[in-house]
Amino acid sequence: MDKDGKTMDEDDKTKEGQQGININVLKQGLCTGCSACVGLCPSMEYYKDKTILFHDCNLPKGRCFTYCPRTPTDLEALRCALFKPEDMVWEIGAFKGLYMTRATDKTIREGAQHGGTVTALIQLALAEGIIDESILADQDDQFLPVAQPIDDVDEVFGKAGSKFVVSPTLLAFNRISQTDTGKIGVVATPCQAMALAKMRVNPVSQDKIRMEKLKLVIGLFCGWALDWRLFQELLKEKVRGCRIKSIDILPSKHACMEIVTDEKIVKIPIKEVLNCVRDNCNYCFDMTCEFTDISVGSARSEEGWDVDKGWNQVIVRTSLGAKLLALAREKCILEFKDVPDKNIEKLKKASANKKRTCLMNLVQKTGSSDDLIYIDPEDPVVRQIQTGRIYVEHIA
Ligand SMILES: Cc1cc2nc3c(=O)[nH]c(=O)nc-3n(C[C@H](O)[C@H](O)[C@H](O)COP(=O)(O)OP(=O)(O)OC[C@H]3O[C@@H](n4cnc5c(N)ncnc54)[C@H](O)[C@@H]3O)c2cc1C
Repeated sequence: MDKDGKTMDEDDKTKEGQQGININVLKQGLCTGCSACVGLCPSMEYYKDKTILFHDCNLPKGRCFTYCPRTPTDLEALRCALFKPEDMVWEIGAFKGLYMTRATDKTIREGAQHGGTVTALIQLALAEGIIDESILADQDDQFLPVAQPIDDVDEVFGKAGSKFVVSPTLLAFNRISQTDTGKIGVVATPCQAMALAKMRVNPVSQDKIRMEKLKLVIGLFCGWALDWRLFQELLKEKVRGCRIKSIDILPSKHACMEIVTDEKIVKIPIKEVLNCVRDNCNYCFDMTCEFTDISVGSARSEEGWDVDKGWNQVIVRTSLGAKLLALAREKCILEFKDVPDKNIEKLKKASANKKRTCLMNLVQKTGSSDDLIYIDPEDPVVRQIQTGRIYVEHIA
């Protein structure tokens, strides 16, 4: 059923070009705004966190449909192609280790969202020649993200901090990867990382060369992203006239978004923030950004948020991710501290909860557990959730 309550006929489901995107993704309210479909042809555009059909295109198949993270996706084939089977943990994806880290450089930490691990790792990857440029997210003075390829280590710091609206990161990736650029790194949210995995594992022939340039994907844990227009209105109402220095979502027990301005700290109840979440995020199956080399989120420990907000929790997924983290340790780019034993279980639980909620929402949308729109009902992780333990707590 689409947003207007109309059911799709079987013919609609077979369209695999722009029309398929329109019917199966945009009209279904599933578009994540990841921008994987933009920058590859003149027909699709990105405008202020929305995907626009700029020109009609009647091609029966298209890269827009092939790479979209919300068109039917064989998740297991992606997992098998990108990761070692022995590393797979069904709740959180490929797993070589969980770490708690922060940038050794205090200046990075002060400008970063949490511990500055992402900024420090991207700087290291550039400095070591692992990548020649990285696609990073910045934002304009209205909090609308912009994505840019950055090749200068010194410029990475200026892009630190989370932008809670989806960034056109894959548009920037699509554009730069079609030039004669070298090795590319991307910092991605889960929907963007999934689209990159689809591009990497099953590139159409004209994309094979450009996809070989993608050398590193660093993922951000993600509960949801905000609709830019709604978020703008909320900010105008709550922090009128003040200059915003930072924005963060506190752990679930605090139930708020914290906005630090030059005059005061504003706490917006999470209920009001949730009104601004993009609809499509209710259909996301991935909290820990599984299709990456390394995924990074905020730390959780007994020491409480005042300490944790200066640290990251890091999942290493691939040999490259392990190599980069080992290098960061060896060169003292990152500081490490012990991870509390229970953190891995908490992460698994939170991640499984997001998957379960996604499945419930998809079934509610289609009216059938055999139709999960973009997810295969026979996917082994889906089967685990259907047959496994039921987690009742929600941990953001
Ligand atoms: C929409 C969103 C939701 C999130 N939800 C959670 C959550 O539920 N739980 C959790 O633990 N963590 C979440 N995070 C991740 C968290 O906010 C931090 O990004 C993470 O802990 C890394 O911190 P850091 O200090 O290492 O990052 P920094 O060193 O500050 O670097 C952050 C990097 O991310 C890039 N970036 C920022 N925003 C975006 C974006 N929208 N898209 C792509 N790249 C971006 C920046 O360019 C920068 O390079 C979320 C992040 C986003 C963007």
